[in-house]
Amino acid sequence: MAHRIVTLSGDGIGPEIMAPALEVLNALGDFQFEEHAFGGASIDAHGTALTDETLAACRQADAVLLAAVGGPKWDTTDPHAPRPEQGLLGLRKGLGLYANLRPVRPLRALYGASPLRPERIEGVDLIVVRELTGGIYFGSKTRTPDGASDLCEYSVAEIERIARRAFSLGRNRVSSVDKANVLETSRLWREVVTRVHAEEFSEIELEHVLVDNAAMQLVSAPGHFGVILTENMFGDILSDEAAMLTGSIGMLPSASLGDAGPGLFEPVHGSAPDIAGRGVANPLAMFLSAALMLRHGLAMNAEASAVESAVEGALDAGLRTPDLGGDAGTEQATRLVLDRL
Ligand code: NAD
Repeated sequence: MAHRIVTLSGDGIGPEIMAPALEVLNALGDFQFEEHAFGGASIDAHGTALTDETLAACRQADAVLLAAVGGPKWDTTDPHAPRPEQGLLGLRKGLGLYANLRPVRPLRALYGASPLRPERIEGVDLIVVRELTGGIYFGSKTRTPDGASDLCEYSVAEIERIARRAFSLGRNRVSSVDKANVLETSRLWREVVTRVHAEEFSEIELEHVLVDNAAMQLVSAPGHFGVILTENMFGDILSDEAAMLTGSIGMLPSASLGDAGPGLFEPVHGSAPDIAGRGVANPLAMFLSAALMLRHGLAMNAEASAVESAVEGALDAGLRTPDLGGDAGTEQATRLVLDRL
C-alpha cells in the first residue's frame, strides 16, 4: 500500500525544494502525497498558519514532510496578527512531537566549507537529540514593570521518554548534557537518565557533560560525540552550534518524533526569501530530510541510505549550488542526485 505523506511546501523557496524531493521519493517507492497550505501561504488563504483541517490530515498521515515557512510579507510586530511560525509550534504540539533529531555528518567534499580545520571534523558523525516540548520555553511566564520570569519544569516521564529515544538510536556513546551543578531540573534529568540507562541500556556508554563544557568540546573535539541528549533550551543552542560544523545551512535535515503517529521531517534552514523564485535554492537538505523520513518515519532504511549516498556522490562529483560556492541550479542538482539513485 502506498505510504500517505502530507506535504507542507510553505513559503519562499519551500515549493522549489519540495517538488524535487517528491521526484526523489517517487524514484524509490510508492507514495501518495497530499499538499496543504501552511505558514504564510495558509495565512493568505485561511487567515491562520495551520488550519484544523491541515492538522487533522497530518495526524492521519504516515509522515509529514515540510519545506519552510515565513517571509517579509508576514513579518509583523502586532502581537495579535497571525505569524507563519505559529504553524510550526501548532504542528509540534498537535502531533505530540517531543523529540527533535539533528544528525550532523560533514561530507568530505564540503570539508572546506567548515569553519573548523579538516582534521578536526574528519569522521564527525553525531546526532543531537533535543527535548522539544518541555523546559523553560514552555513554562509559565510573568512580567511586571520591574522584572520578568520564565519557569523551567521537567517531569520524570518527559525525561524518560526522550532518554529512551536517544539510547534507542543504536550508537555506542550517549553524552547527556545538563547543568546539574546549578539547576534542580538538571539534577532530576541526570538521575532519570542514569536510571533509564542502568535499567534498559547498560551496554551503551553514558557520560554526563555540563552544558558549558559541551559547547567547548563541540568545537575542540567534535569527533568525541555520538549522541548528544539534552533538554529544550540547551538543545536549541547546541544543535545550531553543531550544525555549523558542516559550514552550510543548505545541507542540514531534521526529524521531530512523538511516540505514536507521524513524525515531521524538515530542513533546518528557513524559507530563504532573498533567493526565492530564482531556481538556485540548494535542495540537498530537503533530500536529506526525505531520507530521515524514510528511515525514522517509514522504516525504509535501505532507501534512506540510497538517498544519502546519492547526495554524497553528487557532491563528490563536483555538484555545488551557489550557497556552496558553485553555480548549479536546483534543477541541475536534482538531476545529479536522481542519476545516482
Ligand atoms: P534562512 O535559513 O531562510 O536563510 C538564511 C540564509 O541562508 C539566506 O541567505 C538564504 O538565502 C540561505 N539559505 C537558506 N536555505 C538555503 C538553501 N536551501 N539554499 C541556498 N541558500 C539557502 O533564514 P532567515 O533568512 O533568517 O529566515 C528567512 C525566513 O525563514 C524568516 O521568515 C524566518 O522566520 C523563516 N524561518 C523558517 C524556518 C522553518 O521553516 N523551519 C526556519 C528558520 C527561519
